[in-house]
Amino acid sequence: MLDRMEGKYDVVIVGGGPAGMGAALGARNSGAERILMLDREEEAGGILWQCIHSGFGLHYFREELTGPEYAQRFLEKVIDHDVDLATSSYVSGISVDSDGTKNVRVMNERQGLVTINTKAVVLSMGCRERTRGSIRIPGTRPSGILTAGLAQKLVNLKGYLPGRRVAILGSGDIGLIMARRLVLEGCEVVGVFEIMPYSNGLSRNVVQCLDDFGIPLHLSTTVAYIHGRDRVEKITVAPVDQDLKPVMSKARDIKCDTLLLSIGLIPENELSLSLGILMDVVTGGPRISSTLETSMPGVFASGNVLHVHDLVDFVTRESLLAGQFAGEWAQGVRRPDDNIRLLPGDNVRYCIPHTLSPEREHTIYMRCKEAMKPCRIRVGNLMEKKLRFVAPAEMIIFKIKPDLLDRFHDDSLRIDILPAKKGKRHGQS
Ligand SMILES: Cc1cc2nc3c(=O)[nH]c(=O)nc-3n(C[C@H](O)[C@H](O)[C@H](O)COP(=O)(O)OP(=O)(O)OC[C@H]3O[C@@H](n4cnc5c(N)ncnc54)[C@H](O)[C@@H]3O)c2cc1C
Repeated sequence: MLDRMEGKYDVVIVGGGPAGMGAALGARNSGAERILMLDREEEAGGILWQCIHSGFGLHYFREELTGPEYAQRFLEKVIDHDVDLATSSYVSGISVDSDGTKNVRVMNERQGLVTINTKAVVLSMGCRERTRGSIRIPGTRPSGILTAGLAQKLVNLKGYLPGRRVAILGSGDIGLIMARRLVLEGCEVVGVFEIMPYSNGLSRNVVQCLDDFGIPLHLSTTVAYIHGRDRVEKITVAPVDQDLKPVMSKARDIKCDTLLLSIGLIPENELSLSLGILMDVVTGGPRISSTLETSMPGVFASGNVLHVHDLVDFVTRESLLAGQFAGEWAQGVRRPDDNIRLLPGDNVRYCIPHTLSPEREHTIYMRCKEAMKPCRIRVGNLMEKKLRFVAPAEMIIFKIKPDLLDRFHDDSLRIDILPAKKGKRHGQS
C-alpha cells in the first residue's frame, strides 16, 4: 500500500472493487505508466469480501469461486503489475483544468487532504443500497430494519446476527442470498415479499437460496406497515393491485423481529454529477461511448457505477476495456467520435454503451422491461437473435460485429425485444 501519493499519474482509478481492479489491469495492458487505484476502505476488493458464498468467476475463470477468492486473484494481479494502491483514501472531488488535466482530491490519514494530477480517470465507485426512506414504508421506527447488504456485512465479516425471525422485503440477489445465509446461521426466515409479479434476482438464486431451503417467495406482495416500539415486533403484508398499491382488505400480520430490505441498488455517482457528466436517468449512471468514456473527455466509467450488474465476471470484462481505453487516452490516442446512437425500443429498459462506432466489435449490455418467452432481439435491420426468455433481473449480453455496422448508414440504431416468430425453434441466449 502506498504511503505517499505524489507527481502526475497517467490513470487514476476511483474505487478498488472488481471494476477498479479490472480497470487498473486494463490500463497497465495499454502501456500506461503511472497508475493509481484509490479506495476509501482499508482493503481494496469492494463488496466482494462480504460475499462469502460461491458463484463468482463462472464466466471469467470457468470456476466457481467465493467473492473473497475472486477479489484475491485480482488484487494479487494488481499488485504484481505495479499499480500504486492507496486504501483508506476517500476521493472527495474531481475537477478538470482547461488543458484537460484532472485533479483528484483525496483524503487519508497519512497525507490529509491531497490533490493528485492525472491525465485520465476511471470512475469505479460501485453502488449503494436503497433504504426504507426511499420507499417510505409506513409504521413506527424501531430497530431491526436494515438493508440486506448491511446484514451480510454484520453476519459474514463481523460475526453478529441481526435477529432471529426475519422477513425480507424485495427479492434482489442480496436478499435471496441473505435468506439462505440466515437460515444456515439458525434464523427463521418467514418469507421474501416482492411487490413485482416476478423475482428481481437471478433465477439460479431463487432456486438455490429459496426453493432449496423451503423459504416462501410471495410475489405481488409488499410490506404495508411496520410495528414495534423499540424493536420490530411484526409487519403487515398485503397483496398489491395493478397500480402496485397494497390491498388492505387482504392484509395479514406476520410476527418477526427483523426486516431486511433488498429493494434495489443506486450507482454512487456524486463525483460524476459534480463533474457535470451527462447521466442516463434509467441506469442512474453516466452516459458512455463505446470506449466507456463519459461526456467528460478523459473520464471513463465501468462496473456498478455505470449500471447495476448481476455478475462480477461482466464487471471485470467491461472494466478491463475501460482501463485499456483510459490508458490509451493518457498516451494521446484520440479516436473519432462514435457516430451511431443506440436507442432502447420495445421492451428494452436500457442499453449500454449509448453510442457505437463501426470501428470495432461491441458488447451490448441491456435489460428488458418485462419477462418474455420465447423472444428475439432485433437490432435495427442488421441482425436478429433468438432467446429462450428474457427477464428484468437477468442482464442480456450480445455482440455486434464491426462488419455489420460498416454497412449501416443511419445515425441511430434501435434495439427491440419482440415475441418469437411463430413456428421457429429457439436457441439459447
Ligand atoms: C450481496 C451481493 C451478492 C453478490 N453475489 C454475486 C454472485 O454470486 N456472483 C457474481 O458474479 N456477482 C455477485 N454480486 C455482484 C458483484 O459483487 C458486483 O457486480 C461487483 O462487486 C461490482 O463491482 P464494483 O467494483 O463496480 O463495485 P463494488 O464492489 O461496490 O466496489 C466499489 C468500490 O469503490 C469504493 N469507493 C466508492 N466511492 C469511493 C470514493 N469516493 N473514494 C474512494 N473509494 C470509493 C468502495 O469503497 C468500493 O470498494 C453480488 C453483489 C452483492 C452486493
